Amino acid sequence: MDYLSPVSVEEATTMLSQTPDARVFAGATDVIPQLRAGRPEPQALVDLKGIERLMALSQSDGSWTIGAAVPTVRLTESAELRAEFPGLVEAVGLIGSDQIQSRCSLGGNLCNASPAADSVPAMIVNGMRAVVASGSGTRTVPVADIVTGPGSTSLAQGEFVVEFELDRPPANTGDAYLRMTPRTEMDIAIVGASARLTLDDGVCTAATIALGAVAPTAVRVPDAEAALVGRPIDDEALAAVAAAASEACNPIDDKRGTIAYRRQVAGVLARRAVATAAERASGRETGEHRDGASQ
Ligand SMILES: Cc1cc2nc3c(=O)[nH]c(=O)nc-3n(C[C@H](O)[C@H](O)[C@H](O)COP(=O)(O)OP(=O)(O)OC[C@H]3O[C@@H](n4cnc5c(N)ncnc54)[C@H](O)[C@@H]3O)c2cc1C
Repeated sequence: MDYLSPVSVEEATTMLSQTPDARVFAGATDVIPQLRAGRPEPQALVDLKGIERLMALSQSDGSWTIGAAVPTVRLTESAELRAEFPGLVEAVGLIGSDQIQSRCSLGGNLCNASPAADSVPAMIVNGMRAVVASGSGTRTVPVADIVTGPGSTSLAQGEFVVEFELDRPPANTGDAYLRMTPRTEMDIAIVGASARLTLDDGVCTAATIALGAVAPTAVRVPDAEAALVGRPIDDEALAAVAAAASEACNPIDDKRGTIAYRRQVAGVLARRAVATAAERASGRETGEHRDGASQ
């Protein structure tokens, strides 16, 4: 295997076009375990961390730009990002451990295409977009359109994610992410639930809800979103969210959780994530909905 270390997006796209059997990496926290477990070695590994643009984290009046290879510890340590997107930051803060988070990236978490990837539901509810580069330039794609199934993405050979765009939230908006793991440390989600709400005088004006680990890809829950918009977040609305979330699941049955268990937990976590997002949107967070639902 060759190790290639481009310093610009253009150099990386040229290397990828010249070596069709090359694989990009950022933190390599998925790539290295996969190679050690016997996955076929690519002809070359292309290290994206030498490209300044992929390692940049910046904000402007209207949006944030998060380089696809930025180690997620820089996101969890950003007080400004946490203040605007506490749910996104709590999702990336659940990935692995301090050691993993000092290496791993949003680009890797997304493009590894695990159904259980923690950041993906949180990226989806916040409407994040991926800027994708190839030899013919760049294109911008909703994060929700990147993963097509376990281990597969819509990226063509030679394409990679350069950065993510994240619009600053409207006033009175809050997000939240919760996950359930069989053990409290270093485990992956058997269910992850993310919600983002905007309120106007207590009435929900916008809602997005996404679940992870309950289907081949992260899934939006449009019926739960519809049950919230135009009304206050009361017990009846939360019950409708739980029912719709359980219904939206298409989970697997394995040693980490049965289908029935995952459906039940998806409903509980979606309800709690919505309640927390609503508290954050209204500036009255109590944390009572979060107990026991997240490691
Ligand atoms: C001990 C341990 C615990 C973990 N715990 C969790 C957890 O709790 N939650 C969780 O979600 N994950 C977990 N993971 C998985 C992993 O850490 C995350 O998925 C991480 O975000 C991957 O980021 P990375 O930069 O290391 O990816 P890499 O390993 O560098 O890449 C992963 C995949 O994405 C591709 N890729 C990387 N960057 C790009 C890009 N910019 N454009 C296109 N393709 C790209 C690579 O080719 C590869 O296929 C854990 C891993 C370990 C080893």
